[in-house]
Parts: sequence; C-alpha cells; structure tokens
Amino acid sequence: MTAKIIDGVAAAAEIRQELKARVAGLAKRNIVPGLAVIQVGDNPASKVYVRNKIRACADVGIRSWKYEFPADAAPAEVLKLIAELNARPDTHGILVQLPLPPQFAIAEILQTISPEKDVDGFHLYNVGGLVIGQTVFPPCTPYGVVKLLERENIEIEGKNVVVVGASNIVGKPMALMLMQKDATVAICHIKTRDLAQFTILADILIVAAGKPNLIVPQMVRQGAVVIDIGINRLPDGRLVGDTDFEGLLEKASYITPVPGGVGPMTVTMLLANTVASAERVAQAG
Ligand code: NAD
Repeated sequence: MTAKIIDGVAAAAEIRQELKARVAGLAKRNIVPGLAVIQVGDNPASKVYVRNKIRACADVGIRSWKYEFPADAAPAEVLKLIAELNARPDTHGILVQLPLPPQFAIAEILQTISPEKDVDGFHLYNVGGLVIGQTVFPPCTPYGVVKLLERENIEIEGKNVVVVGASNIVGKPMALMLMQKDATVAICHIKTRDLAQFTILADILIVAAGKPNLIVPQMVRQGAVVIDIGINRLPDGRLVGDTDFEGLLEKASYITPVPGGVGPMTVTMLLANTVASAERVAQAG
C-alpha cells in the first residue's frame, strides 16, 4: 500500500476560493471583514508569520491592519490598543502574534481580547467552549487538521486517535475537537513512557511535538492516517515534520507532507475565522 499524500496547498486554495465568495456576499451588505494583527518586538520568525497573514488577508479580500510595538513596549500600551480594537466595528478579528517579550503576561493579553474577536481561539472563553463543543473560534491549526480529515472523507467517529504533543495551542485543542467528534482520544507528551505503545493503537495519528523523526514506521499501525503538524528546520536547511515521511509511505493510508500539509491550512483557517466573525456581525445587525 502506498499512502495517499494529503495536499494541504490544494485544500487551502479551495477553502480560500469559498472564502472569497463569502467576502463578496458580505460586500453586498457593505461589510468588509477586518483583521488587526499586533506584533511586539522583532522576532524574525514572527515577522514572517505576520507578513504571511497580512498577505493572505489581501488574497481573499479581508482588510488588515498591522500594529507594531518595539521589544521594550509597556504592556499597558498594548492593552490600551486591544481595548480600542475591541470597540471598533470595522475590526472583526484581533490577533496578537506570539511569543511576546518577557515583560508581558501572555494570559493577561489574550484575556483582554474580546472573545467575539478572538480569531486565534486562545481566549479562555473559547478554550472553555472547546471542552463542551461550543467554541466561537476553533484554534487555527487543529481546525485546519479537522478540515483536511473531512475533505478526505476520513471517518473520525469511533476511531482511535492518538495526539502526540499536548500544547495549549495545538495538541490539547486538537484532542478536544476530535473527542467532540466521538473519537477515542489519547494524548501523549514528553513524559509519556513508551510512546510507541500508544501510537501503534492509532487509526489516526496526529503529531505535534517539534521533533524530527520522532515517529518511525514501526510505531505506526498498517493503514493508519498520519497527520504531521511538526515544523522543524534541519541543520542543512531542509524543512521537515516530526515523522519519517518516506518510511511511512508504505505503512500509512494517508499522510500529510511537510511542507505542504497542515501548514497552509493554519493561515487559511485564520481567514475563515475572520470571515465567520464578520458574518456573525452581519447577522446580528
Ligand atoms: P510546544 O513545544 O508548545 O509543545 C510540544 C509538545 O510536544 C509538548 O506537549 C511536549 O510535551 C511534546 N513533546 C516534545 N517532545 C516529545 C517527545 N519526544 N515525545 C512525546 N512528546 C513530545 O509546541 P507546539 O506549539 O505545540 O508545536 C508543535 C510543533 O508543531 C512544532 O514543530 C511547531 O513548529 C509545529 N506547529 C505547526 C503549525 C502548522 O501550522 N503546521 C502550527 C503550530 C505549530
């Protein structure tokens, strides 16, 4: 068996086409979805992410604003801006690019964003909503994974799902979203003893650890679906995920490549959340 390679670039392009149509629908009601992106400091990776998000917004017709602060900015200045953006009717989404410099209490910043504009899905209200399946904005990376599974018609209900990685922004919400879809979910992390004992049980194995080659073929059940969220830069410059992609091609039934799998979906789901937010406003008005 050779695994089907899930094409995240194509899936993202298709969803962006749908979003363009929804943006056109909003335009008829004189609403342009708007996203505010706040960046503090000059972390080079953050700059690239912010640039990509702004570009992606333009691609589907979302208006965006970039607010930049120096690395030594006072948290109060950023909190003041967030409060202003919360009140602006033209701003449907507010995103604070992480990480933040050490003087910032990240939780305080995230909790200041209105849950109705929290398009990253990091506010406690939205995190809590995930637990009961009522979140306003699903966090973008796990949301993108769910969309990829749905697009490939991969059944989730009743399946054994193993999520490797338990971060607040990827692993934990991923597990909650699939539990909500009636999968049986196990979450593994750095302290898990004998990782392979769990991964071998997975019908759907989702890996978000940030460790190249963590998952090798003997840890994976024949025919499993493998979703690789990891992004790692090797010393030779290559970008790889957390799994032995080549080795798994003969083992998995479906697999996502890195790059070109989950990555392109993450920004696309941010756009989807922003458009959904504007639609919610349109419906209320
Ligand atoms: P994180 O460092 O916050 O969390 C990593 C998690 O993996 C932790 O729970 C840790 O316990 C676990 N882990 C680490 N090493 C492990 C090991 N050897 N065995 C088992 N578990 C282990 O990272 P994160 O923000 O969740 O991101 C994870 C990976 O996903 C990174 O490579 C990141 O670059 C990537 N990522 C990709 C996207 C995307 O759009 N594709 C988005 C976000 C993150």
